[in-house]
Amino acid sequence: MPAILAIHGGAGTIRRETMTPEAEVAFHAGLRRALMAGHAVLAAGGSALDAVTQAVVALEDDPLFNAGHGAVYTSAGTHELDAAIMNGADRAAGAVVGILGPRNPILAARAVLASDHVMLHGRGAEDFCRDNAVAFAPAAHPHTNRRWEALLAEMERRRQSAEDTRDDAARHGTVGAVACDIHGHIAAATSTGGMTGKAPGRIGDCPVFGAGTWADDASCAISATGHGEYFIRYAAAHEIACRMRYLGESVEVASELIVEGLGQIGGSGGLIAVDAEGNVALPFNCAGMYRGTIGEDGVARTAIYKEEPHP
Ligand code: ASP
Repeated sequence: MPAILAIHGGAGTIRRETMTPEAEVAFHAGLRRALMAGHAVLAAGGSALDAVTQAVVALEDDPLFNAGHGAVYTSAGTHELDAAIMNGADRAAGAVVGILGPRNPILAARAVLASDHVMLHGRGAEDFCRDNAVAFAPAAHPHTNRRWEALLAEMERRRQSAEDTRDDAARHGTVGAVACDIHGHIAAATSTGGMTGKAPGRIGDCPVFGAGTWADDASCAISATGHGEYFIRYAAAHEIACRMRYLGESVEVASELIVEGLGQIGGSGGLIAVDAEGNVALPFNCAGMYRGTIGEDGVARTAIYKEEPHP
């Protein structure tokens, strides 16, 4: 079985005009680092679960992406991070919701996956992480000036009831990975700060299994990004898995259909998907999605805008 890994770093109105050449280079480099981290696991015969974990750790550590270091702020000027991971072989799943403290929220989710729980929230989740030796960072670890300024701009816009003309990429974002390993098992991992200026307590699609994160060897592994409320209301990831199982659609057809349908009702975003034969789909219904794949040849392929061919 040829192993493959796909990643994303968020989707939205990512415009060439507002991107500097330096930023573009940095985004590609960040994606490549994450692809190489996950590929190292797969190339050594490791599991899809470990590969998606390592890829997402790399993306969380990169301040360019909205997860871990670089996560967006709530309207209260705080951080509430969500992360989820799921294993297709046995449908083991773990998610943390609205946490602050663990350096890598995806490692917190991974610890939940290894426990009797599936989803832990807030203070209880943070205590669980302490009890389970999940590494912590100072509370300011997610901070970046760019995200703080994005919050101030958003709060000012709301005060003036002005139209929202921001790049989606400044408003939200997410990181995620899906993989198929040489043993034919698949897994998915997703991590996010959510939406800039989100209400404290707001939960997006990322930690909701069947919405933003899903993995089942019998269908597909999925990590989504975009306007989370839509992905939850339409159970986007699970819907794709159902189409594959009940209608016999391929991962490409099923995921394209769902993402297109979400776009038609205002749910901007995209996702990455893989099946247990290593077929990959990277559909999105907006101007761009930070994305990349790496297969057996070990060559990291990355893309940002819609007009670029899929990597
Ligand atoms: N889906 C994330 C959320 O709603 C945001 C994003 O992916 O851009 O929290």
